[in-house]
Amino acid sequence: MKVNDHLLNLSDSYLFSAIGQKVKEYRLKNPDCKIISLGIGDVTRPLVDEVVRSMEEAVAEMAAASTFRGYGDEQGYLFLRQAICGYYAKKNVCLHEDEVFISDGAKSDLGNILDIFSEDNTVLIPDPSYPVYADSNMMAGRNIVSAKGNIENGFLPLPDPEIRPDLIYLCSPSNPTGAVYTREELKLWVEYALSNSAVILFDAAYEAFVHDPSLPTSIYQVEGAKECAIEFCSLSKTAGFSGVRCGYTVVPQELVRDGVSLNRLWLRRQTTKFNGVSYIVQRGAAAVFTYAGLAQVKENIAYYMENARLIAQKLDQLGIWHVGGENAPYIWLKCPDSMSSWDYFEYLLSSFQIVGTPGAGFGAQGEGFFRFSSFGSRENILEAMARLS
Ligand code: PLP
Repeated sequence: MKVNDHLLNLSDSYLFSAIGQKVKEYRLKNPDCKIISLGIGDVTRPLVDEVVRSMEEAVAEMAAASTFRGYGDEQGYLFLRQAICGYYAKKNVCLHEDEVFISDGAKSDLGNILDIFSEDNTVLIPDPSYPVYADSNMMAGRNIVSAKGNIENGFLPLPDPEIRPDLIYLCSPSNPTGAVYTREELKLWVEYALSNSAVILFDAAYEAFVHDPSLPTSIYQVEGAKECAIEFCSLSKTAGFSGVRCGYTVVPQELVRDGVSLNRLWLRRQTTKFNGVSYIVQRGAAAVFTYAGLAQVKENIAYYMENARLIAQKLDQLGIWHVGGENAPYIWLKCPDSMSSWDYFEYLLSSFQIVGTPGAGFGAQGEGFFRFSSFGSRENILEAMARLS
């Protein structure tokens, strides 16, 4: 028996476990202090009424023999896939139900999608980025190259014609930087992918936070994207589903490589290894896309965005360089006085009992930077900003 020794190349712990451990140790030594977390990007607002009502109805259906359901439709229930197609139609993107796959969240699909691609592929990953992209490719031993983000490009790297990747990860709005690609910039990526026969893995987990109507919320708003992109989306941040678990992935029928439909390959992969998301959860998810559901989740998003505005305002007052926070729940700042990311983490924790996320945890280009998340309660955000003053 041999282990997959590619896993030995990964760092010892996942970034957020390392942060959790450090906070735990600090708390043990300082049991009386109130720590405020602007660190892990998890939501705090409860599920909206429309979702709760729909899930309660679904529970009642499951409790009666006449309406009980066992295994669901392979790609997810049609009522949810149709609701998602309706949501995309409002973005002027026309999708067919068989292009939408319901999942238990974007993280699983972002990792699992790699099953349909050869391990020989070269993968282009933005640096900094959500650690799952690099880690899941390292597990398969793929060759990884970086698209470097920095202050000069506003942490929105553009294609480098010298590099010829097979797979390209893009995340917009970005975790961790909160930066958002314009339509023109995404067009450059689509043209680049098409000219290299590459596939873009577009992570749109934060699309609902974009309120500037000129910015794209789906890569399919760019012409040609259906021939080169898979889009991943999540209800975790959109509708507070991080504990409920539901997301979806769009694999267009036009996406064909070497005569093989990637939609068919993904369906084959999913039907082999995944048995779907619970009916109750899918009914809750469908409620998000109703008129009332969308209005209610919008209120929660507006709440987080006001938090983001308060954080950005304080950083401006302190003269600290930052991006994000305008169309994304994350604010990415340059650590003052040339501090390293982890030094700044320790400094904020020990001096102000504020927890953030060190930029270095998102890639080498994140060294010297830091991420604040706006998902906390208003009270905590205000208190944290007062401490920073
Ligand atoms: N993609 C990005 C960029 C994220 O930040 C996250 C979660 O933090 C995910 C995907 C995963 O979302 P889910 O909860 O749907 O697995």
